[in-house]
Amino acid sequence: MPGFEFWGAEERKEVNDVLETGILMRYGFDGPRKGIWKAKELEETICKTFGSQYAQLTSSGTSALTTAMAALGIGAGDEVIMPAFTFVASFEAVLSVGAVPVLVDVDETLTLNPDAVKQAITAKTKCVMPVHMCGSMANLDALLTICKEHCLILLEDACQSIGGKYKGKSLGTIGHAGTFSFDFVKTITCAEGGVVMTNDETVYIKCDGYTDHGHDHKGTDRGADLHPFVGYNYRISELHAAVGLAQIRKLDTFLDIQKRNHTQLKSVLAQIPEVSFRKIPDPSGDSCTFLCWFLPTEEITKAVVNELKAQGVIAGNFYWFDNNWHYIRKWDHLKNATFLHPISDVQKAALQKIATQEFAASDAVMSRCICTSISLLWSEEQIKEKGEKIVSLIKKVLQAKTAAA
Ligand SMILES: *Cc1c(COP(=O)(O)O)cnc(C)c1O
Repeated sequence: MPGFEFWGAEERKEVNDVLETGILMRYGFDGPRKGIWKAKELEETICKTFGSQYAQLTSSGTSALTTAMAALGIGAGDEVIMPAFTFVASFEAVLSVGAVPVLVDVDETLTLNPDAVKQAITAKTKCVMPVHMCGSMANLDALLTICKEHCLILLEDACQSIGGKYKGKSLGTIGHAGTFSFDFVKTITCAEGGVVMTNDETVYIKCDGYTDHGHDHKGTDRGADLHPFVGYNYRISELHAAVGLAQIRKLDTFLDIQKRNHTQLKSVLAQIPEVSFRKIPDPSGDSCTFLCWFLPTEEITKAVVNELKAQGVIAGNFYWFDNNWHYIRKWDHLKNATFLHPISDVQKAALQKIATQEFAASDAVMSRCICTSISLLWSEEQIKEKGEKIVSLIKKVLQAKTAAA
């Protein structure tokens, strides 16, 4: 999965271009930079690669989400409907603009359940934010229909699904805006970085200013720029963008390898009739960063997780149900509203509600789910070995269960 597995001469070359001139900042210094504009070049390449009209690089995926929300006019008291299974960054961004996260259940797609979204809509709802977790996508047709019907913004958190597609369109380019993360463990990396993609010129212009203290970037003299609105500093550096430029050129290779390794591992696990797989709204668009599979019950799944640990093969196998970064159950800091600074009463009330909310439907899915991350470096032999090890320990757990019954 992660692009860092394929670090090499290409990345060093791009970074060296920047080191030669010493112009590490993406804006200004037109003369001394001698035509080297890595961030601009990466934005153009992102637009071409993913079929987005505009792209604004940022310092991280989290700041990309924050930027998108600000540019889409999401703020104080607005409700953003999002899944209970995601990375903490998704709600961090919602909270950072003063908005309110409304968490709803996921289904066997491991993303938003459209019916749960419908039930969560109130007069305050402004945005639906699907998170395309673990390389695959939400049911976007259903969500788009809901958003149209209720005049809501669709913002795609596609941070984990770079290169995934839904009915021929790249994930992250289908809603009003979408984001990728280029942090160190994502499909392609800049070390740290992110991007907002949109087909709306006004939204793009706002993102451009917002990520650079509100600068309008209209002239060539940075000091003379006007500030039509308040912004922050979420800029990416030229060094980071340089790494990303080398990585994005390798993306097709990464995706090919992921698909091949994913297919091979899946065929090994599919030998066991008790194992089922994640529902994928458009299977041909899966970026295949993870293979997510289900066992029949929570008890069996926990026994399998313990067995993976006992046999020293837990690395790369994620049981999100017990994971404190990705699932509501362990987000105590959110549920207790533990902030370093005062927050608004509206946000406080919303978090109190989340703290006592039941997520039975999500629990029923997540407690039976294990996701295996797909490495770019595996050989065919290693996949076979890994797969067979998992198969044998699942069989062991199932047999013990039958014997006990
Ligand atoms: C990684 C990630 C982010 C945030 O990205 P950073 O670049 O680490 O800030 C946001 N959402 C999801 C689903 C992610 O996996």
